[in-house]
Order: sequence, then structure tokens, then C-alpha cells
Amino acid sequence: MCSGLKINLDKTKAKYIGSLKSCDHYPHGLSWIKEPIETLGIVFTESEEDNYKLNFAKRIKNLNSLLNIWKQRNLSLKGKITVVNSLALSPLIYVSSVISTPKKVIAEVDKIILDFMWSGGTAKIAKSTLIQSIDNGGLKLCDFQCKVEALQLAWVKRMTDTSQGRWKLFPQCFYNFKNLNMYFQAKQKLLKCNDIPQFYSNIHNRWMKLFDSEASTFEEIINESIWLNCNITSAGEPIYWKPWAEKNVYKIGHLLNDNGHFYSEKEICDKYKIKCSFLNVLQLRQSIPKQWRDVIVKNNCNPYQESLVVKINNKLCTVDKLKCKDFYWMMIEKRPKTPSCQKKWCESFPELNDVNRDVWNRIYRLAFRITRETKIQSFQYRLINRIVPCNKWLFNIKIKDSAECSFCSCEDNLQHFFLFCDKVKEFWSIWFKWWKYVSGMDLRNCDVVIECILFGYPGIDEMIDVLNYCTLHAKYYIYIQRLMNDNKIEFHEYLVLLKKKLSEERFICKKNNITHRFTKFNFIYESL
Ligand SMILES: [Zn+2]
Repeated sequence: MCSGLKINLDKTKAKYIGSLKSCDHYPHGLSWIKEPIETLGIVFTESEEDNYKLNFAKRIKNLNSLLNIWKQRNLSLKGKITVVNSLALSPLIYVSSVISTPKKVIAEVDKIILDFMWSGGTAKIAKSTLIQSIDNGGLKLCDFQCKVEALQLAWVKRMTDTSQGRWKLFPQCFYNFKNLNMYFQAKQKLLKCNDIPQFYSNIHNRWMKLFDSEASTFEEIINESIWLNCNITSAGEPIYWKPWAEKNVYKIGHLLNDNGHFYSEKEICDKYKIKCSFLNVLQLRQSIPKQWRDVIVKNNCNPYQESLVVKINNKLCTVDKLKCKDFYWMMIEKRPKTPSCQKKWCESFPELNDVNRDVWNRIYRLAFRITRETKIQSFQYRLINRIVPCNKWLFNIKIKDSAECSFCSCEDNLQHFFLFCDKVKEFWSIWFKWWKYVSGMDLRNCDVVIECILFGYPGIDEMIDVLNYCTLHAKYYIYIQRLMNDNKIEFHEYLVLLKKKLSEERFICKKNNITHRFTKFNFIYESL
């Protein structure tokens, strides 16, 4: 051993692997074992069935029982997602980061999470929405499959970084390629997946899926691999010139000088110490697609990247700067992401059809910005996603026999539930008078008042934040009171509640030495 350590023969177990699996010669006084090796909680086995049984089955069972315990707690949507993301999934993510994850594990995990999120019922908000970022209308629920794939991509980063770990001999051997950087820059599916461990073939396959678009910009073209690139062919076949590759010449950028002009055969010979002729250089140049060469001659610089480069979501990224988290979010962003509630809201408020993404981002983010209470954030999230139990919704999902309001005879849709039912209307009318009294702002003449109450007032100054804070708590108060079924909505009760909330907020700000963050509430707090 290089560090001078010696093997302790009494404590060491030995095992034959690969083609020597069935060897029955047991030398060196070691204790030879046949069963799978276990280390750091992970069992290494060649059989996929054993891999599932020994590494995953137990952890899936634990996930299920853990989430069943948390199910009793009546958590908010956001609370549940915190449990899934930071507590429940980590044992599985740990295993998936070092060995291959069978497909059925992903299906089982997804089912358990879905069941937990909706307490055994059908999903009320699509998973494709929940996994998005807050700005895009999600709650950042971890998508297990995406996570596993991000872990695979993070291995490419590890394999191609500049560190010299001995372990890199294994991927070099499995991929049959000494320069892994060059290997992953090439786009050819040159791997015989059957012969190598599943873990490595999964990484290869996931990585190659990233190359789903053709290079078109100058920067993309010069970072293209020359070798094993199905776009760069000679007599219809991708090329691979070993002597050149061994001198680390493998990107189109390597063939150009600083001014973006192709090197001559003499320059190549001087720079890379490669013996080549005029014809070699010409052949190589002509293997590059004409449209790429046309782009190259129009430029006069050479900003190629020495590290591994890949295009993700139309952005060229150098892999050494990316983290597992970045890979994860790039894949999530790639998925279609417009929450289905958006279309429905546009039916009620046609002017929302024309707003740009920023407006929706602001709407989605609002509650997370102005309050720290998970319960309130989750409430507003349900409202935006239209899963507040007004009678119209309960009727639509066949829980109630009628969509009529329980307190008057109108249809109980979201607007009615929060704004137009008699008692609620009365509440808002006092609320607006109160707001004018404390702030000097008269909001009653605003012609988008319904939208503002449902989605928040636009603007980012502190006064608007306070306004949105008070509106949000008013909506929450109405929601709780209406669900109690007696529809007792009293303005002074709301003020008591608001005072309690602000006192808590003030206390937290004081304790954390951030009293300046409370200043904006002072004019209300002092009036209560
Ligand atoms: Zn009503």
C-alpha cells in the first residue's frame, strides 16, 4: 500500500469478482467469502434482484412507514413537501448516488409520495406543477427520477474533473477510453452497454441524452468534439484519429488559432507535435459540415473551453462549474411547466391572457415573500391552484350534490367564496374603509379589485407589501370562518387576529435583531 499501511489479515475478508467469481483457490490466509460485500450501508451485488432486495426494499419500506406517521399530523402542502425533501428521501438518495437504481424503485417511491401528498386520494395539483420552482408555480417537491438522473450527471463531472483519483481507472477501463473528458465530449453512442456495470451504462445513457440539439452558434461549434461525432464524418463514418487524440486534440476549437483561423499542417505539427500532411489537415477540415465551416470563417476569435462543455436548455455550460443541484433544476426546467390553474384563471379574467411570465412569477412568489408562515403560504397556494373547498369545486369533484352557496343561493365559486357572498361583501366594504383610514390609500375605485384581492396587489414597495400582508390574512380569516360553516365573519375579529400575527412577527424580528424589517408594519400595529 502506498501510504505504508498494512492489511490486517484477521480483519480482512476477500471475495472473487468478475470472471473469477467461481474460483475455489483461497490463498494468503484470508477469510474468503461468497456472499455480497457490504460497506457503509451499501451492499454490492451483481444481481439486479439482490440489488433491489438488499439496498432498496428496506429503505422503501422505511419511507412508507415514516410518511404514514407524518400523515397523522395534518400538515400543509408545503409542510409535507419539506418532510419528503429533507427527511424522507435522503436514505434513498444516498444509495442512488453510488449504485444503480432499478426502475421499479422510482415507480414505488413516486406512488408513496403521491399517496402521502394527497392522503390517499387523487392528486388535486399535478405532480408536474408541484415539482417546479416557486416562481413557476410549484412548491419544489423533489422529483425522485430527476434526482437520480442528476446524480448520474454529477458523476460525469467527477470523472472529468482535474483530480487524479485512482478510482478513475475503473471508468476508464469500463468506457474503454483513457481521456474521459474526450469521451464525454463525443456524441457517438460507442458504448457496448451490456458488457459494463449498469451504474456506468446508466451514466453514459443519461449523459448522451443531453445532446438533443445540433450545434449552430460559433461557440457551440468550436466546442464540438472532432472525434466520434456523427456530424463529422469521412466516407459516411465518424472519425477517430488516435495519434491526434493522444495529444489531446479533440475539439474543433483545437484546430483553430487565436484568431479563429484553421491551423496549417506545419502549425499543427509545431503546436501539438503531430506528424501530419497537407492532405490530412484538408481531410479533417472537409469532414466538418459545410454550414459549420461557414460560421467559423465569419468569426475571428477562438473562445473554446478546455473543460467539458454541454448545451443544456439552450445554454452552453462548462460542466466543472455545475453542481448536482444545477443538473436537477436544468432537467426540471426542461419540462412543460405552465400550471393548469393558469388557463382556468384566464377564462375568468381574460386580461390575464396577455400578461407576461413575470406577472405570473410575481403572483406565485407573493405569499412566500411576504409571510413566513407555512400555513398561510400553503393556503394562498391552494387558492391560486383553485383547490379551496368552495361548493362549486366540491360539486365538481362529486363531494357535494350542489354548487350552491351554503349561506345564500348563488353559485359558490372562488370569487363568491372570497368576495361576493353577502357577509363577505360587507366585510370587504369595512376593510377598505379601514385601510383608507390607516394608510390614506383609497382602493375602492380600482377596476381590478377582484384580481388584486385574489392574487395580490402589484408593486414591490413596502406599503404594497403591508397591503398584501393584510389582504392575505383577510382572505385566510374568511376561509377559516366559512369552513366552520356558521359563516360568522366579523371585522373586529379579523383585527384581533391581525394584531396577534403582527405581535408574533414583531417578536421574531426583535429576537433575530432585524427590527428594521418590522418598521413597515408600525403604522398598522400602532393603530390596532
Ligand atoms: Zn353566498
